[in-house]
Amino acid sequence: MTYVIASACIDEKAADCVDVCPVDCIAEGPDQYYIDADTCIECGACEAACPVGAVFWDEELPEEEKSFIVKAEEFYKNR
Ligand code: SF4
Ligand code: SF4
Repeated sequence: MTYVIASACIDEKAADCVDVCPVDCIAEGPDQYYIDADTCIECGACEAACPVGAVFWDEELPEEEKSFIVKAEEFYKNR
């Protein structure tokens, strides 16, 4: 279980979430930001800070956004 950044983040560059993350586990990808599930301490600060509601607890992701779990895994696997 972890927090996941979904489609609303794409092309958003303000990165308020990065500023509030206490363990610095949010990285910028080519089209969106990603949370490193292995480092995230599940504090929820990024979810509260995101101005466009792009951050979800993974179990609460809307069905059409579930692919972002795998997208984040692939991002960190390929770094
Ligand atoms: S604050 Fe939200 S929209 Fe902005 S980079 Fe973070 S997750 Fe993406
Ligand atoms: S839940 Fe907390 S630790 Fe995890 S990415 Fe968000 S701000 Fe960082």
